[in-house]
Amino acid sequence: MLPLRAPLKNNLTHDLETTFLALVKNASAYLPAESHDILRNTYEFSKHAHQEQLRAGGDPFISHPLEVAKILSELHMDLATLQAGLLHDVVEDTTVTRDQIKSEFGNEVAEIVEGVTKIDRLESNFTEPSHTAPSRVITEQAENWRKMLIATAKDVRVIFVKLADRRHNMETLGALRDEKRRRISEETLNLYVPLAQRLGMYSIKHDLADLSLKYLEPEVFDKLELKMKTIKVQQETYLKSCVGKLEAVLKPLDIPYRISARPKSLHSVYRKMVRQNKPFEEIQDLAGIRIITDTVEHCYALLGAVHTHFQPVKDSFTDYIAIPKNNLYQSLHTTIEIAPGEIVEVQIRTEEMHSVAEFGVAAHWRYKLGDKTSTQGKIDKVEAKMDWLKKTLEWLEESQDPREMLEGLKAELEFDQVFVFTPKGEVKKLPLGSTPVDFAYEVHSGLGDQCVGAKVNDKMVRLDYQLKSGERCEILTKKGQHPHKDWLDFVKTPRARSKIKKYFKQLS
Ligand code: MN
Repeated sequence: MLPLRAPLKNNLTHDLETTFLALVKNASAYLPAESHDILRNTYEFSKHAHQEQLRAGGDPFISHPLEVAKILSELHMDLATLQAGLLHDVVEDTTVTRDQIKSEFGNEVAEIVEGVTKIDRLESNFTEPSHTAPSRVITEQAENWRKMLIATAKDVRVIFVKLADRRHNMETLGALRDEKRRRISEETLNLYVPLAQRLGMYSIKHDLADLSLKYLEPEVFDKLELKMKTIKVQQETYLKSCVGKLEAVLKPLDIPYRISARPKSLHSVYRKMVRQNKPFEEIQDLAGIRIITDTVEHCYALLGAVHTHFQPVKDSFTDYIAIPKNNLYQSLHTTIEIAPGEIVEVQIRTEEMHSVAEFGVAAHWRYKLGDKTSTQGKIDKVEAKMDWLKKTLEWLEESQDPREMLEGLKAELEFDQVFVFTPKGEVKKLPLGSTPVDFAYEVHSGLGDQCVGAKVNDKMVRLDYQLKSGERCEILTKKGQHPHKDWLDFVKTPRARSKIKKYFKQLS
């Protein structure tokens, strides 16, 4: 559940120093010792620049960038990113210029700060007007988000700082007017949560989603929080007994592993209730169990043992190791009946997959930057991730209608995906309900444009056929063919939609 940070109280200097030391302690776990002095200098510089500025809640302003840097250190971000966290509001809110930051701390830090400043300016443009129609707000938000992603093509660390900034701002929303609180929470839920999810940064995603729920549905949040508390003891005993049953099966295997059991975030419980249309009491898996081991082989060996001893729930098994999610998340998921009528979800993964699941693109990105243990496999994965970013950007630049972009984003967010094979045996991941036209555009835009028909497992199908996982799809093309307008009635992926629209735009 959400570890809410204690707000700064009266003993300010003391609290600030404590936070700073916590930041240094986190950083010293993975950065060289010299970083300490650099962080100290950066912190003092920022503190001096913000002087006696206060936050809405009355805390000294410096507490905010300091907390942001601390969140970034929890994500194991590099030194330049931590420094940029400390300095991220300096250009926007004080007389310090970008050039000064550049001469004090170097170009790298200055550029990240500048990226964050640009996004902040975009943001204040639309959070200010108070009686904008909701639809306009959404449109402007989406447009803003689009600009933000395009800005990160330069340096994804800008997004990391922005996510940490948003996370701390959400924690301290209490000091703002109710209306403003709601607007910021909506924006967080609409843009930053999907963004964190898309980047595979689950730990920050869950925090942001829980905090948004707290301000958007305060009653729901309070009730859920209370209910989770009420069942906490019972839940812990239950999880302990589940872990015991699993250990009895796993220990004899002589495979290294550790088990962690955790309650689900409030927001994901809430989503489950809404999606399954069930009351809290009927939601079955309020907690999940993770088994973390060293190698992929051991993941499957452990899974084999689990399935040998416990009946898996029908259709619950998903192999995200063989076929990772779009954001490169990997794990084996299964839901088992651990005792008659008792259902529990089990995820099995390696340590590395675990760190990717927590930190997402941040973890990959870390490997890319001179981690001594980095291997080609990891680098390839980073490239795949960056390829995703490129594809998303391409699509963002082509899609003109922000509303449509939001819809597309939501479609991407749904966990329901289908995996379809190309004739060469390559796997393409598509949202549920995707058609051969979506598939064609996913393979190649030329293939989409010239598509005249499709075969699924060697049988002709209509172009609006809904593909299923495991099917092999072959696209029939004809030179000189072009997209049809009615394809827009059934395509599912934002990519196909924007390519088709682009074609017709060129004509007009
Ligand atoms: Mn800020």
